[in-house]
Amino acid sequence: MAKHLAPSSKHELKKEKNRKLERSEKITAGEDRPVRGLPYRFMERIPAWLPAALAFVLLVVIGILPLKGWLVPAAYVLVFILAGTGVSLEAVKKIRERDFFNNELMTLLASVLLLILRHYFEADLLPILFTVCKLAEDYLKRLSRKDLESILDILPESAGLITEDGIERVKPEDVKPGDVILVAAGERIPLDGVVVDGITTIDTAAISGQRSPWAVNKGYRVYSGCVNLTSDIRVRVTRPFEHSTAKRLVKLAENAVQFPSEQEHYAARINAVYVPAMLVLALIVGVLVPAFKGEWAVYAVRAAVVLIAARTVADVYCMPVAYRKGIALAAKMGVFSKGEDCLEAIARAETMIFDKTGTITEGRYTVTDVYPVKMSEHQLLSIAATAESFSRHPIAIALREAAGEVDSRLLKVIKIKEIPGRGVSTFIGERQVYVGNAALLTEHGIQCSVPEKPGSAIHVAVDGRYCGYILVADKVRRRAFDALEGVRVNGVEKLVLLTGDVPSVARPLASRLNFDMLRAELRPEDKKRAVEYLMGNKSERGTIAFVGDGENDGGVMTKADVGIAMGALGSDAAMAAADVLIMDRDIMKVPRMVSISGLVHSVSWQNFLAGMIVDLLIAVFGMLGVFSPLAAELVSFLIVLAVLGNTLRIR
Ligand code: ADP
Ligand code: MG
Repeated sequence: MAKHLAPSSKHELKKEKNRKLERSEKITAGEDRPVRGLPYRFMERIPAWLPAALAFVLLVVIGILPLKGWLVPAAYVLVFILAGTGVSLEAVKKIRERDFFNNELMTLLASVLLLILRHYFEADLLPILFTVCKLAEDYLKRLSRKDLESILDILPESAGLITEDGIERVKPEDVKPGDVILVAAGERIPLDGVVVDGITTIDTAAISGQRSPWAVNKGYRVYSGCVNLTSDIRVRVTRPFEHSTAKRLVKLAENAVQFPSEQEHYAARINAVYVPAMLVLALIVGVLVPAFKGEWAVYAVRAAVVLIAARTVADVYCMPVAYRKGIALAAKMGVFSKGEDCLEAIARAETMIFDKTGTITEGRYTVTDVYPVKMSEHQLLSIAATAESFSRHPIAIALREAAGEVDSRLLKVIKIKEIPGRGVSTFIGERQVYVGNAALLTEHGIQCSVPEKPGSAIHVAVDGRYCGYILVADKVRRRAFDALEGVRVNGVEKLVLLTGDVPSVARPLASRLNFDMLRAELRPEDKKRAVEYLMGNKSERGTIAFVGDGENDGGVMTKADVGIAMGALGSDAAMAAADVLIMDRDIMKVPRMVSISGLVHSVSWQNFLAGMIVDLLIAVFGMLGVFSPLAAELVSFLIVLAVLGNTLRIR
């Protein structure tokens, strides 16, 4: 989603991303690589807090006991070993992974330096506080992992395969398309398929995030991950487990961490300069300055403070944790993102483009009026419905519904050509039929009459002769207004409506919903051009989001920085084209997604800036000798806790 890329290569990048998602099989979310070696295995056995807690108790005891002579350093070194061993092992592990300037190493360097300088208490406290920070950070990581794992619940353990000998429980992977399975009441549907027997209600909550029981019977499609609520059904499986809805969603959620945000790249780049720079500074303060001025001990302490400041707060300011939390939070409400970068792009969106039909409106048309020319209303409807026999467009569905029973003589439809954003061109028997908007007929040299009422007019022509028009209407989604206001409140400046429909329908809608810009009568390629135009005219840091159904606007969606598909459940096209999938058709999830993304984004920046500024202040004051090692340790400890606490706000 890098904005510096040209549109075509950005498109390539997205395709690559989709391919990658298809290919990657393994569960990768938050898995640590196993560590080898005896000391690591030993340390794994004891809880991480134990040595730190013991070290702390010992440190207090040493302070109370009246120790004398060599016993004093010996006792402190013992505490150091206790608290520092885990830190050292971790440092070595990271160095082996070629992460040379890690926080653990900086902690150790500072600590050892302080020991040598006989600042025993500070030397021992440093690894203890560091361990506390690590534990708190791990706790946070576990929290977000737990959220992600709740998505794993949608994966089935087994499927009841119907064989000649009865029902056999098998692994979902072993069921092939064409097999019939029995899904008992109360069972999670293991694979995608079509109901062949039984009537029941299913609950899609696990994938759509909303408790909405859904009645199904013979012939209905059902999706893995949903729960069969009321009675047993038989389902003919339509696709292998690997490509089932549940498996794909789980993979998607897990793979999202493979696509980090630009913010993280940025922080990592700064980090890569910051830490070595601090090391150089420590060397200058601790070696170069005293070479001229003497007072080695004084400057060595200052160098230790600089080393303490060289550690970056909580693994580059907690950004991965924040993003993972955001992704998990969204998934819980049935919104799946393909990458952390998608959240970032939504957070930075200055313009949000909406497709009209099926996104802002329900996408369920009804016929409101019929205006035939020299034929009956029923005849006109029948011709239109027959020509549209094979179209999945909502208008086609409405026409078929309105026509009802169609004269069987009409049924021979051939050479069907659906022209996106226009209509259909077919032959019914020998006769050439056009059904679509005025633009379609005008393009073929047929004069249309101007509709008496405003509305979406579907004109019909047979063998070049105009036969009249049918008015169809679609309802605006119930909470569309609230949703758009919500998007605006969360910082999106410009709302754009794109539609293939006529201005007489689109204009009142756009003004009622406060859209800033409207483009009507667009074919899909015009929509693409409109998005490209907006992409070319956006500000330096801003992004453009496109919200559609991903069905007939998939190609348009990939032109924007981030594509959001509504009603993605059951739509392969949407799953492939969109970056963010809203599984159901709840338009309120759009503003909610903008708000979650914004929170993740701002928490990440706050953490980064706060951590960076405090670290730099510690370094500067330490260098000047204003900050003692103890003060530096405590301040840097508190800022880590603050950053972690701030990250907890994402929920
Ligand atoms: P939108 O841009 O609002 O999502 P579409 O691009 O799906 O709408 O369609 C735009 C216009 O093209 C419709 O309003 C209709 O006039 C015409 N159209 C598209 N497909 C068909 C069809 N199958 N039958 C009749 N008209 C169609
Ligand atoms: Mg559309």
